[in-house]
Amino acid sequence: MSDTLFARIARGDLPCARVLETEHALAFLDINPVNVGHVLLIPKQAHRTVADLPDDLAAHLGSLLPRLCRAVQKVTGAPAFNVIANGGSAAGQTVFHVHWHIIPRHEDDAVRWPWPHSSYGDETLMKAMQDRLVEALTNAG
Ligand code: AMP
Repeated sequence: MSDTLFARIARGDLPCARVLETEHALAFLDINPVNVGHVLLIPKQAHRTVADLPDDLAAHLGSLLPRLCRAVQKVTGAPAFNVIANGGSAAGQTVFHVHWHIIPRHEDDAVRWPWPHSSYGDETLMKAMQDRLVEALTNAG
């Protein structure tokens, strides 16, 4: 995997505004925040997306999220937050080292949400999707 900005930050080769660090993870302020207090959480090990993470590393990163969300809310006074991990360029990922955004949210802030929802329309399509996902998950390593 090619070297990314966040891999260089994780190694300490580039600076960041660090807020939390463990042996395997780092959280720091997003340099162009959606709202002030926007935090990014990354593994130190390089992986492209959530789908590429080993389970134990994913579990460690997930275990840090509640604490980060509480701290972001406490410090910003935000009544709400979004936790988002973009996976792939079609989903908006621009730095290909997996990261979670913890974004404090305020009533009537500038963020446009929710995103548009669709509908299955045909129940058989929903059932087929359910069956295929159950099969994929059953056979997943
Ligand atoms: P994504 O678009 O989901 O890949 O998110 C990448 C995020 O990284 C964006 O929100 C950027 O503002 C943020 N970002 C880019 N460069 C830096 C940097 N040097 N330090 C902190 N955050 C950064």
